[in-house]
Amino acid sequence: MKIRVGIFGYGNLGRGIECAVKNNEDMELAAVFTRRDPKTVSILTEGVPVYHADDVLTHKDEIDVMVLCGGSATDLPVQTPMLAEHFNVVDSFDTHAKIPEHFANVDAASKKGNTVSLISAGWDPGMFSLNRLYANAVLPNGADYTFWGKGVSQGHSDAIRRIEGVADARQYTVPVESALEAVRSGANPTLTTREKHTRECYVVAKEGADLAKIEKEIKEMPNYFADYDTTVHFISKEELQKNHASLPHGGFVIRTGKTGFNQENNHLIEYRLKLDSNPEFTASVIAAYVRAVYRLASAKDVGCKTVFDIAPALLSPMDGETLRRTML
Ligand code: NDP
Repeated sequence: MKIRVGIFGYGNLGRGIECAVKNNEDMELAAVFTRRDPKTVSILTEGVPVYHADDVLTHKDEIDVMVLCGGSATDLPVQTPMLAEHFNVVDSFDTHAKIPEHFANVDAASKKGNTVSLISAGWDPGMFSLNRLYANAVLPNGADYTFWGKGVSQGHSDAIRRIEGVADARQYTVPVESALEAVRSGANPTLTTREKHTRECYVVAKEGADLAKIEKEIKEMPNYFADYDTTVHFISKEELQKNHASLPHGGFVIRTGKTGFNQENNHLIEYRLKLDSNPEFTASVIAAYVRAVYRLASAKDVGCKTVFDIAPALLSPMDGETLRRTML
């Protein structure tokens, strides 16, 4: 029997989940749910129904695990607790500061409905979080560094699009190579925001817009750009579509640490991701956690989990014997 997966919300991540389900033989797509008119949402898989989100509870028995693909800002804080009461769920909630609050809400809903839920699966939070945890446990005397990029930041791209005179924009976060090298050397540098990342903006301006004004507004925008060395390139709509349509991302989690009676030996742990498609990779991580949630639910577990609570073997389609023979 395959794991019957539901997708709730069909944007970039929803489409990524659809691809990930296709690439995992033990899973099948049962249904897609959307808040829009289902007739206007066309999915890639033939023969799979698209339902309105309002009707989700009438399809309770058709779904083993529901993947929530709404945005972290306003969708998931409402949708995940709401659905966790009725379905086993996985989300990719990525507002780091609000994870404890989100966890508490989802945990209460899961316990009320006797379901298993897992929040904040993906790469950051997700695979990066696991690597931070492993590295800290292994090297207690050390320092942590996380670098992001090169990749598209949706939030920063949106912030540029809101500026008057801007038709469209794409923003890349880029790690500073010399900062990476300083960290890798074991020097444990203290790095400012500006020293760790630069920001590259590709902007399509509306006709007649004041380019100098747009550039100034971007570079001086507090919280988003003011603390970074930012470059702004004005390009045509065609160039944006041709060269900046995809959503690459990635980054580095590095921990340097010391061992030995007098801490005389240095060690470096580095985990790197280089992703052609942020949503497709995030979805692939989620798919592995769908499998774990399904197994926990089958074993009558209840409540909310994060990636920290899941034993690695639960993620793999291989059984324990095969894992011990081929992966240990
Ligand atoms: P999108 O903006 O593409 O989709 C979010 C929601 O918006 C969808 O679920 C969909 O809901 C609605 N939507 C999508 N397209 C349209 C449209 N054309 N018109 C109207 N509504 C639309 O966001 P992403 O899929 O790119 O990202 C979702 C979340 O994933 C992010 O907010 C982020 O929190 C998280 N994420 C987490 C990562 C991690 O590492 N943990 C990494 C990357 C992302 P509906 O179908 O109901 O209308």
